[in-house]
Amino acid sequence: MFYDSSWLAICAGKPHHRARRSFAPLLMRTQCDHGSESDLPHLARRDFFKLAGAMALGLGVSARSEAAEVNTSSKLDNVLTPEAALERLLRGNDRYVSGKMKRHDFISERPALALGQNPFAGILGCADSRVGPEYAFDAGRGDLFVCRVAGNFADDETIASFEYAVSVLGTPLILVLGHSGCGAVKAAINAVRHGEEFPGHIPSLIKALRPAVKAAQDQPGDPLDNTIKQNVVINVEKLKTARPILSKAVEQRKLKIVGGTYSLETGRVALLA
Ligand SMILES: [Zn+2]
Repeated sequence: MFYDSSWLAICAGKPHHRARRSFAPLLMRTQCDHGSESDLPHLARRDFFKLAGAMALGLGVSARSEAAEVNTSSKLDNVLTPEAALERLLRGNDRYVSGKMKRHDFISERPALALGQNPFAGILGCADSRVGPEYAFDAGRGDLFVCRVAGNFADDETIASFEYAVSVLGTPLILVLGHSGCGAVKAAINAVRHGEEFPGHIPSLIKALRPAVKAAQDQPGDPLDNTIKQNVVINVEKLKTARPILSKAVEQRKLKIVGGTYSLETGRVALLA
């Protein structure tokens, strides 16, 4: 474990978490065996205890004590490798783009989700009202851990939020998601390159986006598109190198951090190389 006890105190679902992370490989096998996308609450009670017992035996510990820690509220399908999590995210975007979204049953999952969460992906997205991650990836509640701010950049609080998602909730993937026509990036370009002044607290956004504007200013092509992509690249790197928690999780291959952009015109998310 690479998180300290201060995290444990603030995590409502923590008593279950340690067991769930340790059991991840077995949970994944079981998911494949079942070959469905059902959630743990839908697993037959008999199967669930059989699973918990098998997991406990695999770890050489008491079935009784460990079974009591398994998070019965978590979504079984959300226990994924980073690669599988990315694949699932992109499949969800395919459904969204083609208009063939799944039906999400919010009512039946509500009691279970009130007890815990295990989101399979973290999203650092823009606050723009046209870019809703749960819609864009056709995801349900409890699936995505989303941090949004105009200009989708990571500050200390954002990093701390993802540290919580990764180390406590076991989230295996973070996607930094820029989008076409981003007004925050446009404002930053106007401020940095053309000296435009903005009122209120907007200069703090400009300050955060300035490195992207500077890095993209000599690139050929469209300045706005270039800066949007550059901003994603910078923030992917910032998260990857955020010591000690995120950097270590990446190093241990428990976490993948990728970048992409969302097209307002098509709804398509394109990953950046
Ligand atoms: Zn934006």
